[in-house]
Amino acid sequence: MFTWLTVSTTRKISSLSFILLSFLFVVIVYSNYQTQKIYREMQEVAQIDIPLSEVIADIEILQLKQHLLMEKIRLQGEAFLTNDVLRQDSIKGFESFSQRLSSQLDKSISIIHSGMTLGSIRINVADHQALIKQINTLHSHRISFEASFSHFLDTGRERQAGSWDELEKQDDLLDAEAEKLLLNIEQLTMKVAATVEKQERDFMIVNAMLGFSAFAIGGYLTLYTILSFRRKVGSLRGQIESLHRSMSSNEADDSFRYKGTDELDELEKDLQILMTRFSLEKDSRDEVETQLIELATRDKLTGAFNRHKWDEQIKDELALANRGHHFSLILLDVDHFKAINDRHGHDVGDNVLIFLVKTLRRRLRETDMLFRVGGEEFAVLLRDTHLGDAHSLAEQLRKKIETLNEKNIPAFTISLGVTEYQDFDDQNGIVKRADILLYEAKGAGRNRVVAG
Ligand code: GH3
Ligand code: MG
Ligand code: MG
Repeated sequence: MFTWLTVSTTRKISSLSFILLSFLFVVIVYSNYQTQKIYREMQEVAQIDIPLSEVIADIEILQLKQHLLMEKIRLQGEAFLTNDVLRQDSIKGFESFSQRLSSQLDKSISIIHSGMTLGSIRINVADHQALIKQINTLHSHRISFEASFSHFLDTGRERQAGSWDELEKQDDLLDAEAEKLLLNIEQLTMKVAATVEKQERDFMIVNAMLGFSAFAIGGYLTLYTILSFRRKVGSLRGQIESLHRSMSSNEADDSFRYKGTDELDELEKDLQILMTRFSLEKDSRDEVETQLIELATRDKLTGAFNRHKWDEQIKDELALANRGHHFSLILLDVDHFKAINDRHGHDVGDNVLIFLVKTLRRRLRETDMLFRVGGEEFAVLLRDTHLGDAHSLAEQLRKKIETLNEKNIPAFTISLGVTEYQDFDDQNGIVKRADILLYEAKGAGRNRVVAG
């Protein structure tokens, strides 16, 4: 029972369904068995009861005939004894009566025997045997009656009152025995009818009980399925609702309370709304994440990548270069920037830096990366670029800055040191080399490029 409480709903429903189907199976098998039994009884009725009833009817008619014959003799009186025609007529009548009774009795014995060999399920062996015994008694009475009749014929001439009385006595005995037999057969038939009726009633009761049990199990199963289904769906909806609430800043938001045609429809809609909400939430989260990454990797003033990003990127670039990818590096510094600040103010200095980055970006390719590595110092990473190309690019950049004529931006120049990746370079090595080259450019009078 305790394990039953913990098994899954699917297992509960399938085991209950199995029990229900087993019940229905039992109902079908039992009904089939009982129907077969009733069919067999019907067969027995056709083979035993009906022929037996026919025999009974015949014996009753024969009894009547016998009465008539006896009555006729009595009425004929003396005439019966003197008139040969009348005598012969009565003899024939009694002979035919005796023969027919004998054949009917034989017939009834053979019917009862065939009932026994059929293995009758309604008449027991003792009843069979009692009936046969009674029929045999009737046979012997018939024989005795026949003997009394012959005796009466032989002694007729003397008209002995004794032989007539004996015949009448035998007639009464035969009659009484036949009545008894008919009554017994009738009682037996009634007993059989009662047995059949009881069996049919039992069949109805058992079938009704089985049917009711199947109905109760089916009802419980249906109710259980509906209730557990509703409970699960309700709990799911509750969870979705609290998820909505936890996501919603607005307490009164009930956009998720969809009213549908049924629980599943409502659950489906609730989930759809939740999924849309999740996807919107994810989009805005992605946006915030991108913004955070931007903030973490970009310089606030100029928008160029910051020092932190530079430290990460140069490591990645060196790792790639170790695996065969080439790159070059430009380090550049604004000439006499301190003087610009001093002469035009810090804000103008800032604008110079902003403008410098804007101008450099315009000249650089998608794959090139520009970093602000110090106050007015910048680095440019040039992927898949060799020294010659890097040098000419640096020269173009220098020229561009030199020839700028921008309103509100004082003229300024830059110095650049250019180098390329060399085998076994590390961050320190390549940056130091570029720095020395930049220093050389400064030393050589500024506004120039030194590559190496
Ligand atoms: P050199 O040609 O030798 O590079 O001379 P320089 O004056 O450019 O070099 P120095 O290192 O002497 O001066 C750099 C100046 O840059 C000092 C600092 O105040 C200024 N600076 C650094 N960061 C910023 C900034 O974000 N905005 C402004 N306006 N100035 C800055
Ligand atoms: Mg400088
Ligand atoms: Mg400097």
